[in-house]
Amino acid sequence: MTCLMTTSVVPAAGKGMRLGSQIPKALIPILGKPMLSWTIAALEQTPIVDAIVIVAPSEALDDFEKLRIGEGWRKVVAIVAGGLDRQQSVWNGLQAMPERTEWVIVHDAARPLVKPSLIVAVWEAAQEIGTAAIAALPCTDTVKRTLDGVLIAETLDREQLWLAQTPQVFAAELLREAHEQALKDGCTATDDAMLVERMGVPIRLVSGDPTNIKITHPTDLLLAEALLRAGEAKPR
Ligand code: C5P
Repeated sequence: MTCLMTTSVVPAAGKGMRLGSQIPKALIPILGKPMLSWTIAALEQTPIVDAIVIVAPSEALDDFEKLRIGEGWRKVVAIVAGGLDRQQSVWNGLQAMPERTEWVIVHDAARPLVKPSLIVAVWEAAQEIGTAAIAALPCTDTVKRTLDGVLIAETLDREQLWLAQTPQVFAAELLREAHEQALKDGCTATDDAMLVERMGVPIRLVSGDPTNIKITHPTDLLLAEALLRAGEAKPR
């Protein structure tokens, strides 16, 4: 039993340009339900999650509030405006966490098929190591590096490569410090683990879930709907 408070920060302020969408990416329907509703439902169902902070596009705060009321989410304590990039959005979310928060679960709204069991597994790994843990998948493709987008510069050793997902779980103070340090240094990152790595702190890898896909391109929406229909993702 733990009495530590765990808050999930959900960056959902992406525009969805690569999806060619007029509405915010997080509100795009999947099987008739907004992407964000699937994501928040998973967090609501995860017993170790005490509170949720949603980071929304500043121009769509009203729409997100309406969705919150319509869905009756019990754990959502704040909906705040996002920034120009994901890192700024997470930073804004961190400011809105309840003061008692000791552990933070950062989970992208763009991964709506996440299973509560994966969220718990990553949280437990973070508790064990005392610092941080992330979901990630071993790389199965052969990865080429290029300097100009035309010619191959080198082939990376895929045995050493893992593809980072969210959820990513951090001791709250550690994640705050990592963001502050990155702001000072002018460092930008596409995930939060990278900011914590810079501090030389150990971060555990937890085997992720291949169905925990990130919705980026229109084909990802088709895949998400197919997985949900086939019952491969979480049943709801
Ligand atoms: O753009 P990308 O796919 O990396 O976005 C990952 C997550 O970050 C998405 O859930 C998206 O809504 C969020 N995001 C954000 N603020 C931004 C850009 C992206 O909250 N300015």
